[in-house]
Amino acid sequence: MKAKREAINVLYFGKFEYFCISNNIILIAMKVMKFGGTSVGTAVRIKSVGELVCDGERNFVVLSAMSGTTNKLIEISGYLYKQNNTGSLEILNQLENSYLRVISELLNSEEYKQKATAYIKERFDFMRSYGNKVFTLADEKVILAQGELISTHLFYYHLCELGVKCRLLSALDFVKTDRYGDPDYPYITEALTRIMAENNDVSLWITQGFICLNCYNEIDNLLRGGSDYTASIIGSVLKVDEIQIWTDIDGMHNNDPRYVDGTRPVPQLHFDEAAELAYFGAKILHPTCVLPAKLNNIPVRLLNTMDPAARGTLISNYMEVGKIQAVSAKDQVTAIKVKSSRKLNSHGFLRKVFEIFELYQTPIDIITTSEVGVSVTIENRKHLEEIVDDLKKLGTVTIDDDLVIICVVGDMASDNIGFQPKVVNALKSVPLRMISYGGSNYNVSFVIRAEDKQRSLELLSQELF
Ligand code: ADP
Ligand code: ASP
Ligand code: MG
Repeated sequence: MKAKREAINVLYFGKFEYFCISNNIILIAMKVMKFGGTSVGTAVRIKSVGELVCDGERNFVVLSAMSGTTNKLIEISGYLYKQNNTGSLEILNQLENSYLRVISELLNSEEYKQKATAYIKERFDFMRSYGNKVFTLADEKVILAQGELISTHLFYYHLCELGVKCRLLSALDFVKTDRYGDPDYPYITEALTRIMAENNDVSLWITQGFICLNCYNEIDNLLRGGSDYTASIIGSVLKVDEIQIWTDIDGMHNNDPRYVDGTRPVPQLHFDEAAELAYFGAKILHPTCVLPAKLNNIPVRLLNTMDPAARGTLISNYMEVGKIQAVSAKDQVTAIKVKSSRKLNSHGFLRKVFEIFELYQTPIDIITTSEVGVSVTIENRKHLEEIVDDLKKLGTVTIDDDLVIICVVGDMASDNIGFQPKVVNALKSVPLRMISYGGSNYNVSFVIRAEDKQRSLELLSQELF
């Protein structure tokens, strides 16, 4: 699908550009390429990203902040909340210096060095201007946005210096959330289509991941790790051919590489399998990122910036029949058990339980029931106290903290006999607090104590892979 860009005529601009060389029409693919924090973490890495995006195709590049920056911006905000100007200034100055070092390694010409230095100075002076003022949550969102603004500007200056024709688009001009915090698709579609039409004389566009406007037109973000979500929102609005998530590992591994040795990349995953793994702790992918791609049937490819030739993982509509794909783990889970004071099967009991979680906008991950009670797990403990108070009107309530959900993902259709015993057998020596199977055809989940996590992941790898 690649074509030389010289001496060819553009016939039409839409999802594809159609290029005409003599009588041959060549389609130029369009993709979104998202690079995470480590992928743009140093000047050398930024240069590699520059090479990867100049591949002759039409690429919409989404960048995260350089690794470590968002954490530092959170720390700075912490000092600003406390009106500790010395604390915020110390980290701001350190961070500014680290960017000045990146500029000296990344850029060669005086012209671009000056442009980049002026931009960094302007951003850091702006952040310093928050010192000694009352600092609000809205201000923190503005501070957090600086990481992605800076990384994309530095990358843009680098490409301009190399003479690459490209456009830097501000995500704040088209990524917007509605009053529920979900992407405002009608707005995004209108704005992005207009912006692309105004910038259709290039084939490389760059924008910030993570940052957006909210429904009050304030600067906001798509939560930690949310650049993956930006990539998938843009990909689904532009109906691209592929969304690529470039990171520091060669695709989704069959177990968490931070806990288990010898894990291997999974070549193919179904959208639903990837969504389960991301939701239940596989950090490589932000959980929200799968749905927009799935709804538009756009393949998502996970690739390694440090090893671009590695095959990675292709996430698509294709399901590998009869295969256990991977294991993941979600930390800091709380289980709540409600033992009914009356008969559980008296109708309306479960509805009342779930209504309490709905009232406090607290999602439930796993549910198990028995004749006398119901157990659920939650991750968000913000309203735990109120929830427990309300549940006590319905029965006796017990809380278990510091649990972990272990999730085994693959083709678990009920006619696929042999899997369940294998999985349960692997964990025969681990005390299981809850088991969930049958909610979908893609996963079986276990709730265990945090202290058994590492051992459980290792046992599953030994038994399953
Ligand atoms: P980025 O900054 O590029 O968004 P992340 O840190 O968010 O990267 O995600 C990549 C990391 O996800 C890897 O370095 C790896 O440690 C972690 N990870 C957790 N589970 C998995 C898994 N199953 N497969 C691959 N990586 C995983
Ligand atoms: N920079 C943001 C974070 O660190 C967003 C992202 O990297 O996806 O969470
Ligand atoms: Mg990430």
